[in-house]
Amino acid sequence: MAANLGIQTVGEAKELRGLNLIAAHSHIRGLGIDIERLEPRASSQGLVGQLKARKAAAVILQMVKEGKIAGRAVLMAGPPSTGKTAIAMGIAQSLGQDVPFTMLASSEIYSLEMSKTEALTQAFRKSIGVRIKEESEMIEGEVVEIQIDRSVTGANKQGKLTMKTTDMETIYDLGGKMIDGLSKEKVMAGDVISIDKSTGKITKLGRSYTRSRDYDAMGADTKFVQCPDGELQKRKEVVHTVSLHEIDVINSRTQGFLALFSGDTGEIRAEVRDQINTKVAEWREEGKAEIVPGVLFIDEVHMLDIECFAYINRALEDELAPIVIMASNRADTRIRGTDRQRSVHGLPVDFLDRVVIVPTYPYNQEEIGQIISIRAQEEEVELSADALALLTKIGKETSLRYGSHLITTSNLIAAKRKANVVAIQDVQKAYTLFYDQARSVKFLQEYESKMIG
Ligand code: ATP
Repeated sequence: MAANLGIQTVGEAKELRGLNLIAAHSHIRGLGIDIERLEPRASSQGLVGQLKARKAAAVILQMVKEGKIAGRAVLMAGPPSTGKTAIAMGIAQSLGQDVPFTMLASSEIYSLEMSKTEALTQAFRKSIGVRIKEESEMIEGEVVEIQIDRSVTGANKQGKLTMKTTDMETIYDLGGKMIDGLSKEKVMAGDVISIDKSTGKITKLGRSYTRSRDYDAMGADTKFVQCPDGELQKRKEVVHTVSLHEIDVINSRTQGFLALFSGDTGEIRAEVRDQINTKVAEWREEGKAEIVPGVLFIDEVHMLDIECFAYINRALEDELAPIVIMASNRADTRIRGTDRQRSVHGLPVDFLDRVVIVPTYPYNQEEIGQIISIRAQEEEVELSADALALLTKIGKETSLRYGSHLITTSNLIAAKRKANVVAIQDVQKAYTLFYDQARSVKFLQEYESKMIG
């Protein structure tokens, strides 16, 4: 119940926090930018350093907000663990509530359930919002006052009805024709009703409280007059944003909207999408809808193949295109789907040509220390000063990601000896139990002859 009122119970809050812990980027709340000067703060909203890339991201964000950058592509390029995904998450957090943000790991498109281009099309269409404006068909509220002009009898009875809804109080003039047969229901103060905008039909949804004294007097035969369309003094405008993909799914006869919940949408036929595009274009012309270009983030972009790049190239030309932000930690590599063609970041040259590149650089020791400390706070782990120093050193010498992972494992080891604070010995133990990449390779090389394969 408390949740309905927007109040979280402690249990609910805990559950949420538990979920957050799993996400590697849960500490990121935005880009940490001074909006007026468009300058990144050294450490803010969970992001540390990487100032140039964050500034570039802030500029991109600004352009997305102004709707200027749809159909462009940005490549975040830099070594592993330099915050490419973290910065994309920062952008996602700073976008308006109804601006779609989709995250796609390139390997996800190689699925047996759908073709590569279908997977990409869905990702693109998930990243384009359609903001639909409509007047609510039904206005719901609670009747707080009813006045009937008793001087006029019979068919000409006049009525005034004050209706309270969550966000407004409106007086509906029920003057007009009597509802014969349409509404035999008697409406009383305390009733929760809805009025159908187009027919004026009043439907009782229930009662919120009883105040029969006032209105019983009106007699059981009090009839209410119809509220003709157009006479409602105030109308509630409902604006909601859905993605093109959601509209596709809802209108796809083979899928049905339930597929939206299961996520199992399968392939959607091209005719359905054509129809939706036509419909959306009509709505736009009639002023009923606006397009909200969102952001599509494609991680490990070097995993895409030449066909995918051709698809993206074309999709970016489309009138309905999101901004595409890609990330790659590869320098010169083979382009998938080709025999020997190599290229920077694994992107075909003609595609590279239309991409703006934002580089990310390795962190210095101090920045790594700050990031590890923020992660520890996020995971509610208390580190002693020398434990933090050691994790920082490990982070610098191996990788930031490995250093962050050791926070949780060190904490488990500390918990085992019933300590609340992680000490240096816990980190040392975790380091010997869990290998980083370099030690793992070394180990495998040493024992190569004993391994399978
Ligand atoms: P890869 O190329 O391996 O995918 P990446 O550049 O995308 O790496 P991230 O996943 O963003 O790296 O970073 C690794 C971890 O460090 C994540 O938990 C991320 O949230 C955190 N992190 C990276 N950069 C920063 C930063 N500048 N401020 C705070 N946290 C950061």
